[in-house]
Amino acid sequence: MDSRTPVIVVGGGPAGLAVAVGLALQDVAVTVYEAESRLPRDLRAGSFHPPTLEMLDSIGVDRDFRALGYRVPRWQIRGRREGVIVEWDLSLIADLTPYPFRFHCEQFKLTPLLLKRLEALGGTVRWRHRFLDATQGADGVAARFETPDGIYTVRGSYLVGADGGRSAVRHTMNVAFEGFTWPERFLVVGIDRDLAPAGLTMNAYISDPVDWSAIFKMPHDGPPGLWRVLIPTDAEVPEEEVLNADFIERSLQNFLPWDRPYGIAHKSTYRVHQRVASDFRQGRMLLVGDAAHVNNPLGAFGLNGALHGAFNLVEKLGPVWRGEAPDSLLDRYVRQRRAANVEFVQAQSIRNKQLLEERDPARRAERLDEIRRIAADKTLHKEYLIKSSMIWSVRRAVEVE
Ligand SMILES: Cc1cc2nc3c(=O)[nH]c(=O)nc-3n(C[C@H](O)[C@H](O)[C@H](O)COP(=O)(O)OP(=O)(O)OC[C@H]3O[C@@H](n4cnc5c(N)ncnc54)[C@H](O)[C@@H]3O)c2cc1C
Repeated sequence: MDSRTPVIVVGGGPAGLAVAVGLALQDVAVTVYEAESRLPRDLRAGSFHPPTLEMLDSIGVDRDFRALGYRVPRWQIRGRREGVIVEWDLSLIADLTPYPFRFHCEQFKLTPLLLKRLEALGGTVRWRHRFLDATQGADGVAARFETPDGIYTVRGSYLVGADGGRSAVRHTMNVAFEGFTWPERFLVVGIDRDLAPAGLTMNAYISDPVDWSAIFKMPHDGPPGLWRVLIPTDAEVPEEEVLNADFIERSLQNFLPWDRPYGIAHKSTYRVHQRVASDFRQGRMLLVGDAAHVNNPLGAFGLNGALHGAFNLVEKLGPVWRGEAPDSLLDRYVRQRRAANVEFVQAQSIRNKQLLEERDPARRAERLDEIRRIAADKTLHKEYLIKSSMIWSVRRAVEVE
């Protein structure tokens, strides 16, 4: 098999589609294989950081995408009883990025734009193709897919596993997914209350020893948008009970008292994990996105990190596929993105959660005082934004040889 045989991308989520677009832009033959019959529309990520917007800019989907969402130039860390603890001001990083804001838009509005871009470049998605397993030799990969018409074997030069947290590609590679699962079940509800009059910025994290939370305002079906509230619940409480209207109403009233019952536009629950694959590569098979690493949503690093990995990978896989760079360049992708994930995404998302949920009064006061001190000093405030906006982790990855 020569190296010009197409690259197989497994999974048509944001990471898989971004890899495919990035490769197609370099004239690399690429086909995406997606298990579902169309793009999933589930409510997942929705907060985009400046480097991610710059990357989307580089593949030409930025303008259409930015027309669909909200710019969030300031975001808060609050205490449930104390109110605002700090308000971060992204205008302080305007000298470092053309996008000095977080950008809020549902993940399922980005994927159709990536698909459209891929199709315009001649790339294709094969729907209802569920990856089963693969074998590889020195010059290629043979992957088996289950389809409504039976099981097919597809041959490719490389195979990119972008098939999410439960990755079948990762299982085939026999790579460990090291880390842990948080004890809580997260409940996400879209509410019919505008929280701006209560002083909340469109993104706010609420610290409390019992009722901590995260809040995002999303564009939803258009004006006036929808406030999404994330509430941790005891995983011992059955999921049906957590999704029960009375349980949700009690939780919301306890957390954000209101003089009338809340209307719920949507509700869902999910378990959260902190895990990183022990390797992102095995010969001609590579992992990217949630297939390679997962983390809690506090800080919005999951989807952003998945896209940062996708863009890093295509920079290397393109030249390798064309025979212009040695295969070993792919190991640099692994070193760079594992470092970015382990050193920043995992560590910072765990710290973010600890800050919100700290129960010990003395330690809680210490942690909150520390961020007040950082926010009050312009230099430290800017440094904090460089990290929390993922500018530092993207730069750090590039430095890794
Ligand atoms: C409820 C929730 C809220 C979240 N909130 C945030 C947030 O606010 N900010 C943030 O940054 N991140 C958030 N995340 C994480 C973010 O959604 C993920 O990091 C992101 O979806 C990863 O993209 P991906 O393309 O790697 O994987 P996915 O989006 O999971 O896509 C994987 C694709 O592979 C397909 N697939 C799976 N198995 C197979 C197979 N065997 N064969 C073929 N195709 C297959 C799936 O159908 C899917 O289309 C959240 C996640 C969840 C679940």
